[in-house]
Amino acid sequence: MKLTTKKIEEILVTIITPDGLPLIKELQSKDNISEFDLASKTKKDIKVIRKQLYILYNHNLVSFTRKKDKVKGWYIYYWTLVPESVRFSYFKMKRELVQKLEQQLEEENRELFFVCKTNCTRLNFDQAMDFEFRCPECGELIHQDDSQKRIADIETQMRDAKAEIVQLQEVRKEHRKIVKEKKKERKVKQKVRKEAKKVNDKKTIKKQVKKTNKKPLKKK
Ligand SMILES: [Zn+2]
Repeated sequence: MKLTTKKIEEILVTIITPDGLPLIKELQSKDNISEFDLASKTKKDIKVIRKQLYILYNHNLVSFTRKKDKVKGWYIYYWTLVPESVRFSYFKMKRELVQKLEQQLEEENRELFFVCKTNCTRLNFDQAMDFEFRCPECGELIHQDDSQKRIADIETQMRDAKAEIVQLQEVRKEHRKIVKEKKKERKVKQKVRKEAKKVNDKKTIKKQVKKTNKKPLKKK
């Protein structure tokens, strides 16, 4: 699954609040952007930008490199989003959403709910009893709410979230496979190098043995 702009925004905004949206948009457009460029492009104070970057950094969602400014003598930081971490945060968010929806669904199936005609507020059975089946907001009589539509909505949301989780797990599996294969390749190369070294060592030993064997012969 590709991390679309919308998905990246969805997850990052939950962490640095909608105030950080301009910063997120800039980080998505390019890698290695200096904090000064980020500040000028978002038209925000450098202190605000640094604070937001710091929050993202604490969540491992951005990485940085720094370079010394030769003229001014201080370090300039260049920032980049870490796609793997963003994807994992998105995955975690979806998993939490599924848990929440499961709870809601369980509650909808277990409890009876009551509402008035104008839908001021929704009460469970105990609350409705406490208010003697009158709406605490408008005073009208309340009646049992039909939970079927709500249940259907929750189930749709849950199905979507679960489908996304499966997709994300596939991506992770794929990613891990690539990492594993690279590791294996590296190991094979190391082994080949070691073997080659052994052969070379043997050759040099043989040469040395030959040399030492030859020496006394030459002397004779
Ligand atoms: Zn009411």
